[in-house]
Amino acid sequence: MHSYQNYINGTFTAPSSGKTFDTVNPYTGEVWARVAHSDASDIDSAVDAARNAFDSGWAEMKPTERGRLLYKLADLIERDATHLAEIEVRDNGKLIAEMSAQTHYMPQWYRYYGGLADKVEGAVIPTDKDGIFNFTRYEPLGVIGMITAWNSPLLLMTWKLAVALAAGNTAIVKPSEFTSASTLEFMNLIEEAGFPPGVVNSVTGFGKDAGAALVAHPGVAKIAFTGSDLSGQKIYESAAKTFKHVTLELGGKSPNIVFEDADLESAVMGAISGIFAATGQTCIAGSRLLLQRSIHDQFVERLIEVAKTAHIGDPMSPDTHVGPVTTPPQYQKIMDYIDIARQDGAKCVLGGKAYTGPEAKGGQFVEPTIFTGVDNKMRIAQEEVFGPLLSVIPFDTEEEAISIGNDVDFGLAAGVWTKDIGRAIRMSEKLRVGTVWVNTYRAVSFTSPFGGYKRSGIGRESGLEAIKGYMQVKSVWIAQQSNPANPFVMR
Ligand code: NAD
Repeated sequence: MHSYQNYINGTFTAPSSGKTFDTVNPYTGEVWARVAHSDASDIDSAVDAARNAFDSGWAEMKPTERGRLLYKLADLIERDATHLAEIEVRDNGKLIAEMSAQTHYMPQWYRYYGGLADKVEGAVIPTDKDGIFNFTRYEPLGVIGMITAWNSPLLLMTWKLAVALAAGNTAIVKPSEFTSASTLEFMNLIEEAGFPPGVVNSVTGFGKDAGAALVAHPGVAKIAFTGSDLSGQKIYESAAKTFKHVTLELGGKSPNIVFEDADLESAVMGAISGIFAATGQTCIAGSRLLLQRSIHDQFVERLIEVAKTAHIGDPMSPDTHVGPVTTPPQYQKIMDYIDIARQDGAKCVLGGKAYTGPEAKGGQFVEPTIFTGVDNKMRIAQEEVFGPLLSVIPFDTEEEAISIGNDVDFGLAAGVWTKDIGRAIRMSEKLRVGTVWVNTYRAVSFTSPFGGYKRSGIGRESGLEAIKGYMQVKSVWIAQQSNPANPFVMR
């Protein structure tokens, strides 16, 4: 049995209440670790430590030096990537292939932003004022509260932490109560890399107490959040009371749109990877498959054929394609949506039930499930399920595909499958989403901005754009000579 404590001011400390909660392996159903159950007083301590670190040197440290620490951290992550991936799998039950790819890719964010740290330049502004010199400088915001979801804890933290530190901020990370272990394990690398105490802190606990206290704390300058739209809304409302900056990375109901002129075999693989690869537990799941009517039947037939080959089982095995659902409430939600889809008149052509075979062990599995005959107005097409449930929706024309694609509250991502370059460009212009993939799906990089339109969020992570979201600009005016002008008139 492992035991994980908070990491505050460079020390692993028990929560002030002394309480812990269990963390469960979703595959075996067994408790494998105990984690600090923190409350507002632990958040207070972490904010004090982070503010103190910010004021006592971190913000003023030469950006090149901050960059060097980030490079060092990147090397340590690379060294321990397999170990970190194994902890993720034990905690969230996603496939080792997926989590290992994530942890091995993570160092790139720290290197990219480590390199960017000393390249955030202000400007000399040509003004219309005589004898006054005006320039801008970018400054860090202060203490950043980072709150992450259970599906990819370390990667989601990395998208915030690497850029926030490069910009000169300090951080408090509150991971999901379902998957706290990997973040606390990561704090060992923060320590080893030599970050000054208080620059990075982690406090674990539940959203309603530790999470809410972090969002409400007046000493926190920004909340960078990844999670559901409903939690995002509550956080946005609470953050407004103390005028915090926010980045909100929320849910999705992404359309994966296949035209009759597409390379259909690639599109079938793209549709499968869009919904079944991470057991559907990914914000960018292509959960609505829009098929041009002329290819609908043949496409669905091939889709079922390939989906049936998915091997359900132990997420730690490299041969597994579909792992367990991470949490009991999530499992129940998926089963409820299967019922809702049937009641609303959709036709289940694959799966539609729990998998209880010998590979299930103590985990809760849902078979890869495909519904055809889905109308975009149905709940299964409008609401995020976050499971291996695919809704197939037919369309006739490009205009209709755009209209159905956009007719949801979310706007995170979309896939378009076509060989017509003009159509690819038109679709990428008209789809109201933060990311459009053409003839591919689920590609992300540290170099490219990621985020949502509409209910999928506010702000962008990754790429050059992200760093200004962790800074504020100051305009400095310097008179070149004394000028005792009329004080009652604006200069
Ligand atoms: P969730 O909203 O239930 O929880 C996310 C985090 O917020 C957890 O750490 C939780 O403790 C905390 N939290 C919950 N309520 C809070 C409150 N009132 N105040 C402060 N903190 C609070 O989400 P989840 O179930 O963990 O994750 C799944 C969701 O995350 C899905 O909707 C998915 O689409 C979304 N997601 C989005 C992205 C993205 O980049 N857009 C990536 C991954 C997951």
